[in-house]
Amino acid sequence: MQKFDVIVVGGGMVGASVALKLAQGGLKVALVERQTPKVYDAAQPLDLRVSAINQRSEAWLTTLGAWSLLQQWRLCPYRRLQAFEGERPGLTFTADELRLSHLGHIIENTLIQQALWQQFPQELTLFSPATVTGFTQHPDDAQLSTTEFGNLSAELVIAADGGQSQLRQLSGIGSTGWMYQQACLVLEVDTELPQQDITWQQFHPTGPRAMLPLPGHKASLVWYDAHQKVQQLAALSLAELTVQVQTAFPAKLGAVQVTRCAWFGLARSHANTYAKGRLVLVGDAAHSINPLAGQGVNLGFADASLLCELLLGADTGQLASEALLARYERERRRANGLMMSAMDGFYQLFSNELPPLKLARQLGLTLAERAGPLKRLVSRYAVL
Ligand SMILES: Cc1cc2nc3c(=O)[nH]c(=O)nc-3n(C[C@H](O)[C@H](O)[C@H](O)COP(=O)(O)OP(=O)(O)OC[C@H]3O[C@@H](n4cnc5c(N)ncnc54)[C@H](O)[C@@H]3O)c2cc1C
Repeated sequence: MQKFDVIVVGGGMVGASVALKLAQGGLKVALVERQTPKVYDAAQPLDLRVSAINQRSEAWLTTLGAWSLLQQWRLCPYRRLQAFEGERPGLTFTADELRLSHLGHIIENTLIQQALWQQFPQELTLFSPATVTGFTQHPDDAQLSTTEFGNLSAELVIAADGGQSQLRQLSGIGSTGWMYQQACLVLEVDTELPQQDITWQQFHPTGPRAMLPLPGHKASLVWYDAHQKVQQLAALSLAELTVQVQTAFPAKLGAVQVTRCAWFGLARSHANTYAKGRLVLVGDAAHSINPLAGQGVNLGFADASLLCELLLGADTGQLASEALLARYERERRRANGLMMSAMDGFYQLFSNELPPLKLARQLGLTLAERAGPLKRLVSRYAVL
């Protein structure tokens, strides 16, 4: 049986960052991942899945040494963020107002994962591709069995294995949540307009439509709508889809050509507890949030950063200390829950055509645009 201080299960964006930080901090770490990512190649196609990375996540990726790689590879900064209804101007946050160089960056998920994996030191033991077949807890350790690598043991196991977390299920940790009525279609498009420094979201009774800029004449569009409508759209040819997009999206998008698309169901889910014995959950394994405001991985990185800080400050033999894991859960559950509820509030407010709600949101967007200090507060919360 190979023994470690910590085993991280799941080497996606969040898990890879946890494993890297703990290994850099001197712990004996193993990372167990189902699917080994390819090594970055400049010629690799764009990943359809992109994330809006806020300044806090940028700082986290910088401390890990991954940010400088992403800067050399591909990313797209944005300096303005706009929310509007119809063709009205709506509410705009700018980096200038906050005295920042930028509000965030749009980056492909695969690149973030590849940049983190590229930083792995030799001391970090990789078990990938691996299939987990069992997980048990004992007074002195937790044990993981895998098909390819046999049994592994550690003081603490960190589950970063995504929304369908196998470790969460094997440990009998329940979660509370639901599927939303809406789904979303993610579209990669070629744009007539050159690279933009704005990301915007247009609210619509059937769901928002968003534009996330990518490097060069490229953008990622997200079209939220009823499940059935999204599936119908996804079944169209790229040429037909291009026509639909040009009709449904606001004029400011300019001419586009759809090059690829995929659709996703939207779920909200929050684990009933973040820690059980020698197991602790991070990222989507602990919480899945409506991607409406692009906060999922940013919350995951905030989990990762706090958990690593606590673990690297722990005394020997105290990695699974009840007090440490309770503190992690207390701080992160509150922050994650708040963001999830805020997203649901937005979802309800903006997917509703009841006249009082429609008036309230139009007034809200106008007032928020005019109320300087309030606007600055909200935008700091959203981007930092
Ligand atoms: C349409 C859409 C748009 C989004 N946009 C944004 C955005 O703009 N900004 C943002 O912050 N978030 C966004 N999100 C959310 C974001 O993608 C997730 O929050 C993020 O991917 C979670 O990262 P993670 O590492 O926790 O989990 P995952 O990305 O799910 O990674 C889990 C990893 O674990 C591995 N794994 C799974 N099971 C096992 C197992 N049993 N054994 C070993 N390995 C396993 C997987 O192979 C994977 O590598 C969006 C989500 C969706 C659906």
